[in-house]
Amino acid sequence: MTQDESFEYQSVQTLKGVGPAVAIKLEKLGLYTLQDVLFHLPLRYEDRTRVVPIGALQPGRQVVIEGVIEHSEVRLSRKGKSWGKGRAGSGRSLLCYLADATGGIVLRFFHFSASQQASLAAGKRIRCFGEVRYGAGSLEIAHPEYQSLTEHEQPPMQTTLTPVYPKTEGVHQTMLRNLAAQVLTRLRDEGVPEWLPQSLLREKAFPGLSQALEMVHHPDAGTSLRSIEAVQHPAQQRLIFEELVAYRLSMLQCRQQTRQNQAAAFVTKGETLNSFVKTLGFELTGAQKKVVREIIADLKNSIPMMRLLQGDVGSGKTAVAACAALAVVNRSAQVAIMAPTEILAGQLYENFNTWFSDWFGNELKSAENSAPQACLLLTGKDKGKPREAKLAQIKQGGVRIVVGTHALFQDDVAFNNLALVIVDEQHRFGVHQRLSLREKGARGKRVPHQLIMTATPIPRSLAMTAYADLDYSVIDELPAGRKRISTVVIADQRRDEVIARVAEACRNGEQAYWVCTLVEESEVLQCQAAEATAQQLHQDLHDLNIGLVHGRMKQAEKDAVVARFKAGEINLLVATTVIEVGVDVPGASLMIIENAERLGLSQLHQLRGRVGRGEKQSACVLMYQSPLSEKARQRLAILRENSSGFIIAQKDLEMRGAGEVLGTRQTGVAGMRIADVLRDEFMLEEVREAATQIQQQSPQSIAPLITRWLGRSQQYGSV
Ligand code: ADP
Ligand code: MG
Repeated sequence: MTQDESFEYQSVQTLKGVGPAVAIKLEKLGLYTLQDVLFHLPLRYEDRTRVVPIGALQPGRQVVIEGVIEHSEVRLSRKGKSWGKGRAGSGRSLLCYLADATGGIVLRFFHFSASQQASLAAGKRIRCFGEVRYGAGSLEIAHPEYQSLTEHEQPPMQTTLTPVYPKTEGVHQTMLRNLAAQVLTRLRDEGVPEWLPQSLLREKAFPGLSQALEMVHHPDAGTSLRSIEAVQHPAQQRLIFEELVAYRLSMLQCRQQTRQNQAAAFVTKGETLNSFVKTLGFELTGAQKKVVREIIADLKNSIPMMRLLQGDVGSGKTAVAACAALAVVNRSAQVAIMAPTEILAGQLYENFNTWFSDWFGNELKSAENSAPQACLLLTGKDKGKPREAKLAQIKQGGVRIVVGTHALFQDDVAFNNLALVIVDEQHRFGVHQRLSLREKGARGKRVPHQLIMTATPIPRSLAMTAYADLDYSVIDELPAGRKRISTVVIADQRRDEVIARVAEACRNGEQAYWVCTLVEESEVLQCQAAEATAQQLHQDLHDLNIGLVHGRMKQAEKDAVVARFKAGEINLLVATTVIEVGVDVPGASLMIIENAERLGLSQLHQLRGRVGRGEKQSACVLMYQSPLSEKARQRLAILRENSSGFIIAQKDLEMRGAGEVLGTRQTGVAGMRIADVLRDEFMLEEVREAATQIQQQSPQSIAPLITRWLGRSQQYGSV
């Protein structure tokens, strides 16, 4: 079958209801062809296959119910003010009491028309669908979908679970469902080619691809929502397996392409490295030395380095990065270093500037007439003339090391001789960005070396799938003299004691962080909470200098506060989670984290890693709002009892269990449709074998598999 004949490569515009305008919207979801629609898999499902007796309802589930409205009334909404002005219903809500033979429930409408009100009057029979929640005194459903029924009417139910697709603006669920249904019809008639080896399908007793797709889009009425949301159905397992194989193949291809490129080779003398390390002010740990050796060896090659460096919080990745940079700047080439936030970029800049200004001062000034500037910081803050001046300097090679945020990606940033790109805290940068930065230094087939650093613990097997295009190094040792951070878990009711402890520590010359967190995603609320806390602490502890940083402050203000904290002028720094990654203030030895029970363990570990960086014994207080659930108690205990990021991540995973729900695909590997490299880690070994088998025995399957699962996004590989 050629690509033109086979239906799955046809444009979405061949579907009913898709014209050029809709096609553009679908492109935003990566849907160009019928195959893209077929592999745009549901995020979750709704069960509209059966009517649930009202007496059996449980909060948190979406259900279909049927009944007669016993009573209906308009009430002033409790949230009248905030719901109010400008909205239809202006602060009033319509409450309907719906009952069947088993029980009753409240339907609540915050906005409603007169005709809706009439169709929801006492005595009317309706069927409705919505999510059941705890309301005031009884269960309720807010804004259910509903349809009016005559006395004995029994409209048919859905015969399959209803898929809920990832969507985009301007494309409704109903549209996505309709498109998927059209493509499934084609699938039934025409089938899709199987690219996994037949032997493998037999061996694993995987269902055929068409059958698996049918089941994932339209699970039979009898399928349990829970099991399908746990992603354990054989059809799902099969698709996951295929996606992981495709991903692995794409990474391997990416790696091969990289290896066809050339990079400048840099030989570093042992003595040069040693004398540089002397200026750092500490001895490298054994693990740092090992990793530096690996990197220096990579840089000696004319094959571009692509290395992922993992090291727990505080393991000293910055010094390793500096040694890598040394190899390059010492030969007059340029290094770009990128960090995810301005605070971090500023901090990296300070480190590098101190280390390399000394170095250039000592080693290079004699050799060259006008020594180039060692370091420069480029962030979104740089605007106008000063920015242009910096850009000119970068372009002319007047600066060796450029530290920055994503501002380094911008089109008008051109380097003179970029030979090494270092990306710090990589989990915030996607593969696209890392490739786009590589392009910056590209000249024909010549590309810069790349070093990607992260504190996120990545099990080796996972790294080999998700980052199969990279080599992998680990710093598995902390600098000597680090004391374990003693961690305590305390209820919020004992806040006064905690404040007293902070006060005492600060009066004894220690420095502390007070981290405010909220469960709401809202940054505004988080910042307000931090402001309020800072104010309160200021009232209680007016003899101390209290600083505040949060995400809504201007960058310059944030930097100034962090600088003053670093200089010891601020005793207590109240912050939101903006300080989560990388902020390095070795003097700080106490950290209070509010609402700790609401954060992920890895995030807490990152936060806690802000203290315990110096020689001092450090402490971390995890405050929680009681009552604490048993699960939350266990989670916090993991943190109290462990100090290794790896172990914490592992236990966290064990506790969350394999694949909580389909919705938790946030593993840092963007764009996977059904696989989750953490949840599905157990498959990875076999996935690797299958990928190798395909490479050797059926290389013609590689391209179609990659197109099928990675769609156009994999085109980055060939830019
Ligand atoms: P991370 O790996 O989290 O980025 P950093 O590079 O910020 O860690 O290092 C954490 C702290 O440890 C810094 O203050 C750094 O100067 C210090 N440090 C790094 N390496 C060593 C070492 N070998 N001995 C002592 N201190 C070190
Ligand atoms: Mg760091």
